[in-house]
Amino acid sequence: MSFDSLGLNADILRAVEEQGYREPTPIQRQAIPVVLAGRDLMASAQTGTGKTAGFTLPLLQRLVDNQPHAKGRRPVRALILTPTRELAAQIGENVSDYSKYLDIRSLVVFGGVSINPQMMKLRSGVDVLVATPGRLLDLEHQNAVKLDQVEILVLDEADRMLDMGFIHDIRRVLAKLPARRQNLLFSATFSDEIKGLAEKLLHNPEEVSVARRNTASEQVTQHVHFVDKKRKRELLSQMIGEGNWQQVLVFTRTKHGANHLAEQLGKDGITAAAIHGNKSQGARTRALADFKNGGIRVLVATDIAARGLDIEELPHVVNYELPNVPEDYVHRIGRTGRAAATGEALSLVCVDEHKLLRDIERVLKREVPRMALPGYEVDPSIPAEPIVNGRQQQRGGGRGNGGGQGQGQRRGGNGGASSERSNAPRRPSRPQGDGAAKPAGANARRRPARKPASA
Ligand code: AMP
Repeated sequence: MSFDSLGLNADILRAVEEQGYREPTPIQRQAIPVVLAGRDLMASAQTGTGKTAGFTLPLLQRLVDNQPHAKGRRPVRALILTPTRELAAQIGENVSDYSKYLDIRSLVVFGGVSINPQMMKLRSGVDVLVATPGRLLDLEHQNAVKLDQVEILVLDEADRMLDMGFIHDIRRVLAKLPARRQNLLFSATFSDEIKGLAEKLLHNPEEVSVARRNTASEQVTQHVHFVDKKRKRELLSQMIGEGNWQQVLVFTRTKHGANHLAEQLGKDGITAAAIHGNKSQGARTRALADFKNGGIRVLVATDIAARGLDIEELPHVVNYELPNVPEDYVHRIGRTGRAAATGEALSLVCVDEHKLLRDIERVLKREVPRMALPGYEVDPSIPAEPIVNGRQQQRGGGRGNGGGQGQGQRRGGNGGASSERSNAPRRPSRPQGDGAAKPAGANARRRPARKPASA
């Protein structure tokens, strides 16, 4: 199926073509006709599925098809609410890319930056407003924006908005909107709370859903490496260095942990920055830009900060600590293996986290393959096999700051750290990868890890 058959106009199709999209993704195929028909939509889709274009393209088409006759300042006609600043900024970029050949003005507003420039821009009229709820309400209270002419409302990542406690803000925003409007609700999960919100918000909605990331995970190679908590940083530095990983998104559970790890990696000669809620908006935007353009190799993030980050073809995601909520694992690894790319997700799991891992595997409905880098096996009697992406790897002299492309990464054949502690999950022995791997560590003794080079 091509984009041409979806009923989008030539100006939108031209912009889509310039993005290099060849055919619509499943969520786009399902959602675009529904939105074009003016129906309410309840969509189960995560970031990475192409959902943003799924609602933005038909939304733009509807705005141009139904141009109001009134002259004067443009009212906000489409409102897109998102939970985080980063996601708002990314959606805003997409809206301006897709509308570049249309007479449509869009604006992104979020907190953490000065409100005055946003007020100025709103004054000159905006058709599509992308906003986080708190800042939108501030602007509304200050009469900088009116929402009484909104024709289309999009609630993106509604589950996360509720998780982040935005329900009251959302209710307040809804109270400012006209009763007659089209509503589109996107959510990765459908808890009772979301269903309750959907019931109040949506009128006779069409429901669409696409495979969750965990069922479409062929694009993402997942591995677990059992490791002593104290050695996680050292192991991470070594893997980044020896694997010559150039772009790695690393998740920590806490803001402090993110800062600390970014600092430590810096000491290992690996350029890194942390991104989390306590950082100023400027620092977050800078870190993300540096990461995207290759200025830094590692972005260390907390779940909330990383929510919705769209970094094209992100090759590596590392769970430095497992998330408390299994679904967050799915969101995290959804940062890699995006629409057209493949990626690797690695989880460094210490003994305290075995229960979290079991919960994650229950959600995934499968076991995540184990691997072990020699020197880091928590049970030294377990052999390690050299496999990366199904290819046998040569061990060589690569060091922590990036020497030796593709070197030295080994995957344990039988479940790595099965006895890190007596309560560690034991895994049956099973081959992985292309079968070419030899049990290199059959007589492996625990050897001291190689120290990554410092800058
Ligand atoms: P999203 O789920 O909206 O965050 O989109 C994930 C990524 O997929 C973004 O980088 C989009 O630019 C990209 N994308 C969206 N639609 C398509 C498509 N039809 N073909 C290829 N890439 C796409």
